[in-house]
Amino acid sequence: MLTALTKNGETLCLGHEHKKESLVSLRSKEEFFCPICGESLLLKLGDHRIFHFAHKRGRTCREFYDHESIYHLDGKRQLYQWLIKQNIPAVLEYFDKEIQQRPDIMFKFKGKKYALEYQCSPIPEEVFSKRTRTYLENEYIPLWIIASSHLQQQRRDIDNLTNFHYLFLRSSSLDTFFIPSYCPEKQHFHLVESITPFSIKNAFTQHSFYSPDRLEITRLLAPKPQKSIYMSKWKIEMDRVIQNMIRYPDQGKKRFLLELYNNCLNPFLLPPEIGLPVPHSILIQTSPVIWQTYVYLDLLANKNPGDYITIQEMKQHLNRRVARHKVVIRHLPQLRHLNPLLAIIEYFLYLTKLGILSKMGETCFQVKQKIWIPHSNRERDENMVRFNQKHGSLCKIINEN
Ligand SMILES: [Zn+2]
Repeated sequence: MLTALTKNGETLCLGHEHKKESLVSLRSKEEFFCPICGESLLLKLGDHRIFHFAHKRGRTCREFYDHESIYHLDGKRQLYQWLIKQNIPAVLEYFDKEIQQRPDIMFKFKGKKYALEYQCSPIPEEVFSKRTRTYLENEYIPLWIIASSHLQQQRRDIDNLTNFHYLFLRSSSLDTFFIPSYCPEKQHFHLVESITPFSIKNAFTQHSFYSPDRLEITRLLAPKPQKSIYMSKWKIEMDRVIQNMIRYPDQGKKRFLLELYNNCLNPFLLPPEIGLPVPHSILIQTSPVIWQTYVYLDLLANKNPGDYITIQEMKQHLNRRVARHKVVIRHLPQLRHLNPLLAIIEYFLYLTKLGILSKMGETCFQVKQKIWIPHSNRERDENMVRFNQKHGSLCKIINEN
């Protein structure tokens, strides 16, 4: 750990810069105690590890702090310095007795209290969720930052993101979704932004890197607006999802394909209006091409121009599909306030832009024209060309605003 109390009860925080000689001399005449359990601490001043304290005895604290890696110790120290340099009141290794939790750093910004957790080792999802929930219930804003070593970009703009990565997902007021990370070795923030998933594990992303003095806290909490994706690139990935489904069908995929065939739909001949990117689709683990096919089957296929679709119907459709495990909601502990129904509303707004629907007030849409289903590869390709000519090659991510 990086903080200790002296005999007089003063705090010595190694998060600040200290010269080794002055610490060596202090160590010869001072005793150090753990601010949390009160046990006595050793001040370790090795050449290879960063300066830190270690418990002589005691259990819980030892288990918690004395196995921290250099990477973690150094990371939380650098993050602490980053906050202090911006004149943000922060406490390193803060222990909240009431909730019995120890965020790496507690800080206050714009009247709000934050619990910063710098996570270097994988932890079980339940532990992550429980800690996050406790913070939220006790007026903290949790700010989980993943160690940059966990992030590796697959292709230039595509990432493989696991459930563990998604635990770190945050959103900004602009409806952008991002994962913050930090690397103490390279001394930079590493932001994964514009995350637009197209399957359970794969997503379009954008990576940016900032040295701590070039990134302010506001930028970390609210990154750039979502970047547009090329429709052609997006559609290639949608086709790939379908191809993989047919090549490696598991039980769930078989049920999806069976439902398509029962409704006389060919998975290779889906229209361009099915499988569009919308920002809140990130709340749904099921690929957009699958959940939007279900939306089509449940809410659109049997409607004619002039018919209405209410938000209430959308809600019922989603609940039913989730209850039957046909649509899986992503587990996002830091974004529990967001409703996956938003994705369906955004999809309907997208269809409104495409001239399929029109919006009638706040809670209703009206069908303007039916989605045309191609019956051959030739029809499909011609349809796609028409679609691109009409709507441009960039698929603008559409949100409610
Ligand atoms: Zn202790």
